[in-house]
Amino acid sequence: MADNSIPSDGVEGFLPGWEMVVGLEVHCELKTKTKLFCGCANSFGQEPNTNICPVCLGLPGSLPVINEQAVELAIRIGLSLNCTVDKSIFHRKNYFYPDMPKDYQVSQYEKAINENGILELPLSKKTVRIERAHIEEDTGKSVHVGGDGGRIHGADHSLVDYNRAGIPLVEIVSAPDLRSAEEAREYVTELRSILVASAASDGKMEEGSLRVDANVSVRRQGSEEFGTRCEIKNLNSLRSLTRAIGYEARRQVALIEAGERVVQQTRHWNEDQGITSAMRSKEEAYDYRYFPEPDLVPLEPSTEWISEIRTHIGLLPAARRERLTALFSDVSSGPVYDQIVTAVGLGLDDLVVGAAENGADPRLALARATNEVASDIGNLPRLTIEKFSDLIKLESQSKLSATQAKTVLGKMLESGADAAGVAKSLGFEALDSTVIEDLVDQVIGSSPKEWERFSSGEDQLAGFFVGQVMKLSKGKADGKIVTSLLRSKRS
Ligand SMILES: [Zn+2]
Repeated sequence: MADNSIPSDGVEGFLPGWEMVVGLEVHCELKTKTKLFCGCANSFGQEPNTNICPVCLGLPGSLPVINEQAVELAIRIGLSLNCTVDKSIFHRKNYFYPDMPKDYQVSQYEKAINENGILELPLSKKTVRIERAHIEEDTGKSVHVGGDGGRIHGADHSLVDYNRAGIPLVEIVSAPDLRSAEEAREYVTELRSILVASAASDGKMEEGSLRVDANVSVRRQGSEEFGTRCEIKNLNSLRSLTRAIGYEARRQVALIEAGERVVQQTRHWNEDQGITSAMRSKEEAYDYRYFPEPDLVPLEPSTEWISEIRTHIGLLPAARRERLTALFSDVSSGPVYDQIVTAVGLGLDDLVVGAAENGADPRLALARATNEVASDIGNLPRLTIEKFSDLIKLESQSKLSATQAKTVLGKMLESGADAAGVAKSLGFEALDSTVIEDLVDQVIGSSPKEWERFSSGEDQLAGFFVGQVMKLSKGKADGKIVTSLLRSKRS
């Protein structure tokens, strides 16, 4: 999720007269100790084929035992997405790939554990319907060596790692309610925050904990009918997601405008070339020969258990945004609201709320959190709420200028040191106001023409004088003090 840039292609200015329709299937790895049906560890980055046993290798005679923790986390996801949580059954989804040792995947088909939920998008204020969020096991992983971009075509040889086989997943399927690549991006961002806040998943896209398949179709503006859709598989960053959707929608419009038709397909996104290409014709449900898994009984969570699980869910993003919004007056949109959404999305809201509770200015805390802290988020664990609060107070008391505060915060994130100590070591002791006044007088003396214009009301020249004083003071003067001195000397 490190990639926050918004690509220009396929996002802005979608083809006039056309509308894109997008539904997303998000696969989320659950944060359990062990796999879904066996005692093998659920951990990432191990030596290939070391976390395996007869069950997850699908050896004859082995039998699955459902992981209670996985069911609990799946229910947490369902409740967090306002789904109905109910009785469900497991099915075998049959298909033939080398990375699936049993040649079937245990999934939920007719009756998912979580159905009919909703997810509210905070920026576009849109409600997206969640059709289902069902439990299934992950497959193993094929690695294609040599050739073009890790694909099987043209590879020299292929290897398979079964460590991932049997890792518990929840697949969250949205209705086709999204209408732009930007909305898709906002949906995944919010969903990820919900999964992390409910402690069901670590939400790490870069480690494959969250993988997105996008169903994309296009239709003429005003049309109610859906066009033929293509599914783009395995989008593993927000940047890939928005680029792939934009490209695919434009490809489909071009086809239709050229008098051709869109063929229902599963497509692959090539990040380097920025294009999608056909992988295979899209499977229909009957291709998978679903049938009930005879080795597992239906799941019937009791209402008591569901109620208890509800109490384990932490504060969800919507509630976190409300908590931040309450620190300000009237922010349901605009730049401060955008910062609130960013802060919650990045998990910086506890820092800002904590600083406000310690008496620091919440607006300044929010700004420093969503700019300086956000740009060095990897070092967040080094920054305690107390140290952050102290820094914000030093800045709002004008003991540090804005420039100095930003520098000090950067060093605090690097070293974990406290604000006053870092400021001192950098020689950022606030300049005495008489020293600042001397500098202001010097600058006025050396720029008589600009001073005359400023005195006669050209307010925009304040910036020029502040800049000059900053230069002379090597950034140590407080901009607010300089500005008020300039104003008092003018009148
Ligand atoms: Zn196993």
